[in-house]
Amino acid sequence: MTDKIKMTTPLVEMDGDEMTRILWKYIKDILILPYVDLKSEYYDLGLVHRNETDDQVTLDSAEATKKYGVAVKCATITPNAARMPEYNLKKMWKSPNGTIRSILDGTVFRTPILVNGVTPYIPTWTKPITIARHAYGDVYKNTEMKVMGGCKAELVVTDKDGNESRQLIHDFDTDGVIQGLHNIDKSIAGFARACFNYGLDLKQDVWFATKDTISKIYDHRFKDIFQEIFDNEYKEKFAQAGIEYFYTLIDDAVARVIRSNGGYIWACKNYDGDVMSDMVSTAYGSLAMMTSVLVSPDGIYEYEAAHGTVQRHYYKHLKGEETSTNSVATIFAWSGALRKRGELDNIPELIKYADNLEKATIDTIEDGIMTGDLYLISKLENKKKVNSEEFLHAINERLQKLM
Ligand code: NAP
Ligand code: MG
Repeated sequence: MTDKIKMTTPLVEMDGDEMTRILWKYIKDILILPYVDLKSEYYDLGLVHRNETDDQVTLDSAEATKKYGVAVKCATITPNAARMPEYNLKKMWKSPNGTIRSILDGTVFRTPILVNGVTPYIPTWTKPITIARHAYGDVYKNTEMKVMGGCKAELVVTDKDGNESRQLIHDFDTDGVIQGLHNIDKSIAGFARACFNYGLDLKQDVWFATKDTISKIYDHRFKDIFQEIFDNEYKEKFAQAGIEYFYTLIDDAVARVIRSNGGYIWACKNYDGDVMSDMVSTAYGSLAMMTSVLVSPDGIYEYEAAHGTVQRHYYKHLKGEETSTNSVATIFAWSGALRKRGELDNIPELIKYADNLEKATIDTIEDGIMTGDLYLISKLENKKKVNSEEFLHAINERLQKLM
């Protein structure tokens, strides 16, 4: 073994909770620290420490991410009523992911990790489909009311001088409902830039779809903003990278996605992204094999696994029972963050290490060594279920040979 790989800029490291916190330490000890002279600025986002710092640590970690540009995050508990007595909480702290997303103003990209032996429910999906979900507005910030028969509902917009413009929504003969939605040009533009930047990063086409034939002003605004930004800022870069931006109607997009082989980024409005990401991730087979990266419009990256803290496995672990928890998405969060650090700081060894770590992980599973979740669905003939730690040692055996 040669010298450890040196880093120049710190990686922002956000530790988390429960079973994923246990995996976090295993991954560092077994797969990272033996190879990389890790330079990280550590933030403990575990619920105990968030509670101690009145959640200041979450804000600090997001500010550090802005400063350094790349973060890796462990899954964290979003407290609910049951967590209040469990952790003796001062407050039902907000979701750290929500807090970080709003500070970085980012878009979340979710990508499945494909392995031989686990066939997607759509067998033609031989390459991953990355879903990019716009994380602001529409039905998630709606205003809605019941309306009684005999009422007239109108849209009223008042300008800063108090002048009103009105449009009839509906004259209700009988009872019904109404809903008011909004979005903001700046947020749509940030979403568009994040998608185009990510397409350039991955060298993959970007697809975007809305219902602009029906929603001729609202959805059309999304379509126009994407097109303007693409034409003015990205057209040449896309041509150089040999990739395309492609807009179509959402109905057409859905049909094309099913017929496709994958290998592109599908940008979705907030609701479409919510629904379609559940469909796509289920179709690829396992939540434990889904990575997630938050990308801000100015090119800041935060990598994590798409799953939660795997609470049920943690309680088994606390009772001293053996666990077989899949660490793949968390490993890929680390490899993604280290690779990005390598790209930004021009450290080819770090990029190579990240590639090797991913290859060793996939090779392990394709050699038939896997955790319980994959053991249940893998079609490999000679497969073996291992525990959480054995899985990481099996990856390291392969990583050692690659390094
Ligand atoms: P979860 O942690 O994703 O786990 C749900 C179930 O999915 C597990 O019980 C397990 O099924 C399976 N699973 C998920 N990840 C797995 C893995 N890596 N290996 C093997 N199996 C895996 O969701 P949850 O239990 O609903 O949520 C637990 C906590 O996570 C909550 O406090 C929630 O707030 C938090 N959460 C955090 C994030 C985040 O930080 N990004 C995201 C979602 C949820 P079996 O039990 O059948 O084995
Ligand atoms: Mg959903």
